[in-house]
Amino acid sequence: MADRAERPPRKSPKVHEAKVVRTERLTPHMVRVVLGGEGLAAFELAGFTDHYVKLIFPPQGVTYPEPFDMDRIREELPRDQWPANRTYTVRSWDAAHRELTIDFVVHGDEGLAGPWAALARVGDTMRLLGPGGGYAPAPEADWHLLAGDESALPAIAAAMERMPAGAVVHAFVEVAGPDDEQKTATPDGTEITWLHRGERPVGEALVEAVTALDFPEGRVCAFVHGEAACVRELRRLLRMERQVPKDQLSISGYWRLGQTDEAWRAVKREWNEQVEREQEGAA
Ligand SMILES: Cc1cc2nc3c(=O)[nH]c(=O)nc-3n(C[C@H](O)[C@H](O)[C@H](O)COP(=O)(O)OP(=O)(O)OC[C@H]3O[C@@H](n4cnc5c(N)ncnc54)[C@H](O)[C@@H]3O)c2cc1C
Repeated sequence: MADRAERPPRKSPKVHEAKVVRTERLTPHMVRVVLGGEGLAAFELAGFTDHYVKLIFPPQGVTYPEPFDMDRIREELPRDQWPANRTYTVRSWDAAHRELTIDFVVHGDEGLAGPWAALARVGDTMRLLGPGGGYAPAPEADWHLLAGDESALPAIAAAMERMPAGAVVHAFVEVAGPDDEQKTATPDGTEITWLHRGERPVGEALVEAVTALDFPEGRVCAFVHGEAACVRELRRLLRMERQVPKDQLSISGYWRLGQTDEAWRAVKREWNEQVEREQEGAA
């Protein structure tokens, strides 16, 4: 084995530099941004329906030397000038036209990514890392459970489109209200069950709907993502009450109410470990 000192330094992953090609207000709380350009020439997907990218946001007023080089930024600039990043699902990727579509929840003036998307203009630059990903509907499953809030809607919609013929699908998405519903269905025409949050706390209607579901017989393949406390409750339901094996679950908190993404990521591992401790003993 090579001595530690002889190993080459760890390199940051390749950054793609894209431009905004067009934008569209899909619903009151969701904006679609299509990114494109030569900078996506090396972008490739691996076949998952929850592929995601990390969008790079420099702090206001900070510009970086060209070409953009994350290793150089880390070496030469103080930490408060390093960029922030936000994780977003690849809603679709059109390789022939090099167009990467991302759907952003617009959740007010707070944050980086939501406000950026709301104001994005054709020609704006966005650098991104990735893609990562790990879930696609398992063809051998007896039925599929898809559940999330609007942050998981892009991945749920992509999964719906990719369902095998004849698949039994129960899909639940919680959105603010009726105007936030989107047209999306499986190839066989199964539609999402829309849950309207209204004035209720985020996730409450979703937990209620999944709890009330009469689970079909057989092996489920589940994709459950959204606000972290809601996901924790759904995980408890699936693992402890419904005894769904872990390897049939794609489940995680995509965001945490009242916390920026940095704050959420700082505690996410500990949060997940505690959830495991609480829920796995009894599963
Ligand atoms: C794998 C993965 C895929 C994801 N895919 C998508 C996607 O396709 N589309 C998408 O919109 N989001 C997606 N998310 C969630 C997104 O990364 C977070 O919502 C992120 O915090 C948004 O960043 P921001 O800069 O807008 O707000 P932040 O600066 O992170 O947070 C500012 C404030 O806004 C609140 N907030 C953050 N997100 C939401 C929300 N969705 N609704 C209400 N309040 C919110 C925070 O609690 C905080 O109080 C994904 C997350 C992961 C991990």
